[in-house]
Amino acid sequence: PIVLPAHRKDEFGAISKALLEMNDSLAEAERTRKQLMSDVAHELKTPLMIIQGELELAHETGSPLTAVKQASILDEVLRLSRLVHEVLDLSRLEAGMTELHPKEENLVALLEDLLTKTRFMAEDKEIQLSLHAEEPMIPVSVEKSRILQALYNILTNAVYYTKTGGHIRIHAETVHLPDRQQRYARIRVEDNGTGISEADLPHIFDRFYRADHSRARPGGGTGLGLAIAQHNILAHQGFIEVESVVGEGSVFTICLPLED
Ligand code: ADP
Repeated sequence: PIVLPAHRKDEFGAISKALLEMNDSLAEAERTRKQLMSDVAHELKTPLMIIQGELELAHETGSPLTAVKQASILDEVLRLSRLVHEVLDLSRLEAGMTELHPKEENLVALLEDLLTKTRFMAEDKEIQLSLHAEEPMIPVSVEKSRILQALYNILTNAVYYTKTGGHIRIHAETVHLPDRQQRYARIRVEDNGTGISEADLPHIFDRFYRADHSRARPGGGTGLGLAIAQHNILAHQGFIEVESVVGEGSVFTICLPLED
């Protein structure tokens, strides 16, 4: 046996501990990759089966597809394409392959931009959409498209899960959080929609997780919107939280480090 001098033993111990940790994290990454593959395969199966079924039936009977069937096939194709797009985006984010190119931006201007893009959806459901910013300028260092994507996913969910005639209020401010050194920009997106049950609440940021009522969403949700939003926010050293009461509504709170 090799006898190590005492001072080498510590070094040896540290190296083997680091190797074991590396092995654990590789095994964890492999598990995540396998789980993603199996989740994706499962999610692709349903729309593909519907499309295949409709086309086979039309082929066998020789009867043309009705307008309703064509619309349902188109819905499934759009869902597949959204799914593929979002899976690719999420897997890049999870692998840490998305390099951020942050720039100083005014969060209030980003929110106004977001509202312009989503107002028509709210108007379609006669939902009152309002923005209140406590200051005209809230500087954050972010990659605009990534943060807009995160906020877009959260806001469109609020529209989907709020009934006709409801309201969505967005509030932006700067805060000093007691347990953190850094000052933050805080955005609250509050709706008076369906709310999320206590059982669902801990899982809604998990990929492919959909609560039952998500069928209310046109085309059905993919269950990836919030996972993508959370990854984008974490990549900016921010964080996201949710509070919700079934039948009353939900509040999503997003904090991003303030640019000094
Ligand atoms: P989906 O594509 O299903 O909307 P998300 O990842 O965006 O997936 O959201 C996950 C789940 O969280 C949704 O299926 C829905 O049940 C719930 N959810 C998200 N936002 C809201 C909201 N504002 N009100 C009620 N439920 C919500």
